[in-house]
Amino acid sequence: MPITVHQFPCLSDNYGFLVRDEATGQVATIDTPDADAILAEAAKLGWRIDMILNTHWHPDHAGGNAAIKAAMGATIVGPNEVTRIAPLDRPVGGGETVMLGETAFQVIDTGGHTLGHIAYHDAADGVAFVGDTLFALGCGRLFEGTAEQMWDSLSRLTALPDETRVYCAHEYTASNARFALSLEHDDALTARAEAVFAARERGEPTVPTTIGVEKATNPFLLAGDAERFAAVRAAKDAFKG
Ligand code: ZN
Ligand code: FE
Repeated sequence: MPITVHQFPCLSDNYGFLVRDEATGQVATIDTPDADAILAEAAKLGWRIDMILNTHWHPDHAGGNAAIKAAMGATIVGPNEVTRIAPLDRPVGGGETVMLGETAFQVIDTGGHTLGHIAYHDAADGVAFVGDTLFALGCGRLFEGTAEQMWDSLSRLTALPDETRVYCAHEYTASNARFALSLEHDDALTARAEAVFAARERGEPTVPTTIGVEKATNPFLLAGDAERFAAVRAAKDAFKG
């Protein structure tokens, strides 16, 4: 049986994701950007939250852990670094599997934005929750890791099947598209950027994306190697657009 993903905006530009394993009715929240918003969405759906799956320690990802656990008794799963701001029930790292009912999430090491950042991949449903590692037309800033580490992390994500639906933690796509258009680019990127701007005009999300779409148009992935990736990342950090 598949999962259902309920996506909703949180804070200024985060997304909240509630994931329900349809076989058992077990529900996880991917990160906890805003406990009140997440609890309200769960209540609206009539879902209880059994599990918190954190991608990294930043407050817009783990800041609501305590309040959601207090309200729901949820089990908190995440990388060890989350203990910098909140207790963890189960620390996990790359290569491990987390079960939500009958749904298996493979943990992928995606360090770079933070050293311990992880992603969750449900291969059976073709879904990946990638936190602040890979964005639509972008990638996370290197707050803690090196460009080499981030490039290796992105390479683990691009190794997933092209049709994998990628749930990024932020709606940064229009600004990423403006940066991508400032670089040398092809018609595929121009067409995608126009679609992104139009979607945002209509107030529609540009998340999820797919691995295939990102491989074809994301300038950070098109860099091709760690050294050129580092140059694109530095250019984006300096970009005023
Ligand atoms: Zn972050
Ligand atoms: Fe974030």
